[in-house]
Amino acid sequence: MALIVQKYGGTSVGNVERLKNVAKKVADQKKSGDQLVVVLSAMSGQTDSLVKLAHEITKEPVEREMDMLLSTGERVTIALLAIALQDMGIKAVSLTGRQAGIVTDSMHTKARIKNIAKENIKKYLDDDYVVVVAGFQGIDEKSNVTTLGRGGSDTTGVALAVALKADMCEIYTDVDGVYTTDPNVESKARRIDRISYEEMLEMASLGAKVLQTRSVEFAAKYRMPVVVKSTFKEGPGTWVVAEEPSMEKVVVSSVPYDKNQAKLTVVGVPDKPGIASAILGEIAKEEINVDMIIQNVGIGGLTDFSLTVPRTESAKAAKILKGSAAKIGAKDVQVDENIGKVSIVGVGMRSHSGVAAKMFQLLADAGINIEMISTSEIRVSCVILKDDVDRAVRILHAGFGLES
Ligand code: ADP
Ligand code: ASP
Ligand code: MG
Repeated sequence: MALIVQKYGGTSVGNVERLKNVAKKVADQKKSGDQLVVVLSAMSGQTDSLVKLAHEITKEPVEREMDMLLSTGERVTIALLAIALQDMGIKAVSLTGRQAGIVTDSMHTKARIKNIAKENIKKYLDDDYVVVVAGFQGIDEKSNVTTLGRGGSDTTGVALAVALKADMCEIYTDVDGVYTTDPNVESKARRIDRISYEEMLEMASLGAKVLQTRSVEFAAKYRMPVVVKSTFKEGPGTWVVAEEPSMEKVVVSSVPYDKNQAKLTVVGVPDKPGIASAILGEIAKEEINVDMIIQNVGIGGLTDFSLTVPRTESAKAAKILKGSAAKIGAKDVQVDENIGKVSIVGVGMRSHSGVAAKMFQLLADAGINIEMISTSEIRVSCVILKDDVDRAVRILHAGFGLES
């Protein structure tokens, strides 16, 4: 008998018919004798609609209340799935994040799981229940409802699998695995059979939203095997596992992209020691995830300082930067949401040179202007115009020989 955690995403539970389809899959698995914990997202579009409602009231809603609001989407689906399972004669119970024992820090809208008190879930599992848990949510030490950042149900799934020492975590979604790039942008993308935690982590953090970055961090840290599969069709899916000698050491293995970024530029910064720290210190305190940073060449003792942040945090970051700008005597803060990021990832880059140069050449040949560049041992990322992103993805995917 295995203990399996299954997570179903928003499209998979997007309406009652689809929820019933999930109930059928869960029931079949349960009948084969396994213990099952099922983590659900809200119905697709629901979380966005809730965000929109709040924004109809104010541009900057208080984050504690946003978490309260957004956590409701997952309550709907877990209750409906439990109802559907019970209707099929399967013992099932739905649990909110709190009831499932998920305790987080207090960073509203992007909280981190600190620990999971698993007694309640265990009790139900021992009693032969299918336990249906609301993804994406927890509570902090003061019992405030928190959420784990967009796409956070993946993290709930993997974290529960780790805490319960499950045999594996299955992520069911609307694509049948992890591809060399987003199959919805490039139809010639190929499904990857097995991918290392390390490469998956890079892909996720560079925007491949098929898995939330933190879910991969959890999986990697605790060596939890994760398989990504389609809810709608049978197939082997993609296994995310520790690096194996047999894994292809191709130079470039995927082309992730991210259209949810914004570029902030502090203009007319006095060019002297301590400025970068003054600008970034306050941003770091708010745990805003800064990706690329560029300080331009100074002219006449002044320079411009640009950085990228997730678009959802650009308003907050701009406000903080305006405060810092005033303190250090900078002239202005500009926000550009019309950018995107395209990257190449591959462990083979460690032992090959000229890969970045080839990327820049491919983009140049296509007339795509690069605004910012960053690199690590196994990736190269470029900030470009948002409208150029899809084209850049296809050009790089073809240029590095990833087409099927
Ligand atoms: P869910 O609602 O099930 O969590 P998501 O929309 O969060 O699903 O993630 C699945 C989506 O991720 C796919 O529909 C696809 O458009 C996108 N995606 C981006 N990059 C990749 C990739 N490399 N492989 C597979 N899917 C990807
Ligand atoms: N419902 C949340 C979102 O849309 C969490 C998730 O689906 O994973 O981001
Ligand atoms: Mg998702």
